[in-house]
Amino acid sequence: AALPSGESVTSFLTQVHEEFAADDDGELSTVAPALGRADPAHFGLAVLGVDGQLHEHGDSRVTFTIQSVVKPFTYALLAEELGVDLLRERVGVNATGLPFHSAQAVEVGIAGPTNPLVNAGAIATVSHIPGEGVEERWRWVRDGLSRFAGRDLGLDEETLDSEREVSHRNLALAHLMRSFGTVEGDPDDAVEIYTRTCALEVTAADLAVMGAVLADGGHHPVTGERVVSEEVARVTLALMLVAGMYESSGEWLIDVGMPAKSGIGGGIVTVSPGRCALGTYSPLLDGTGNSVRGALSAAMLSRSLGLDLLASE
Ligand code: GLN
Repeated sequence: AALPSGESVTSFLTQVHEEFAADDDGELSTVAPALGRADPAHFGLAVLGVDGQLHEHGDSRVTFTIQSVVKPFTYALLAEELGVDLLRERVGVNATGLPFHSAQAVEVGIAGPTNPLVNAGAIATVSHIPGEGVEERWRWVRDGLSRFAGRDLGLDEETLDSEREVSHRNLALAHLMRSFGTVEGDPDDAVEIYTRTCALEVTAADLAVMGAVLADGGHHPVTGERVVSEEVARVTLALMLVAGMYESSGEWLIDVGMPAKSGIGGGIVTVSPGRCALGTYSPLLDGTGNSVRGALSAAMLSRSLGLDLLASE
């Protein structure tokens, strides 16, 4: 089914915003000090249809760091470059059932690797970026991510510095994976590039645009460019179903019924294949690291716009 008319999408976004704006459950991320300086009142919603129409409400143009929402897009760029089979074998595609920064997942992963949407698998994915040296390889991935957004994405230097200070665990994961051969090349370089991808600045509107590329099978509904193949877009959505919302991916599927990815910056991208994508921003997080208002909004919009993939009508 197609999306309802533009007017009713906008009025649904307004209703959702009214419903949850006063809900201040959750906490700002404490992973990096700069994340703790977000404004807990910020709440933005945006939907981009595969017809290229953008609908938005609230703080949909407030910038925040993309954090883990970047992971499916980084994965897609590398899957396009290297093929889905290689990454399936090297990085893995199954849920870890463990927190996103778990080291235990990597140890268990001796028998079978993690997946590109948790820190370990994302760092392993980034280690496969082609090119020489950090700067060239960083440009490769930033340019690709900017193609998803349809604009040049900038870095939040303050958050980047703040995250570099606390990247010991990610460095440890990278070195551990290097010892198993899951990370290619210099593990410190992989973490540096990974940390930069997390510190890219986006808005809820950007997330809607980036997600809509996956909704449209890798074709960009606004720029008209083919960003990734249909196969890569489909596999990326499969991974988002499996592990996009960390350990609460099962609960998310029941409540929302669509592939999604969250980040500790407060963003969530939710994709309705063939129809649209939803970008949300609210920095108050639940215990697994998912935006509380974002999750409530996605569930309500899934019902009101009839987007649940598992519903029989
Ligand atoms: N940059 C963060 C980290 O590596 C991203 C985590 C997240 O958003 N879940 O810990």
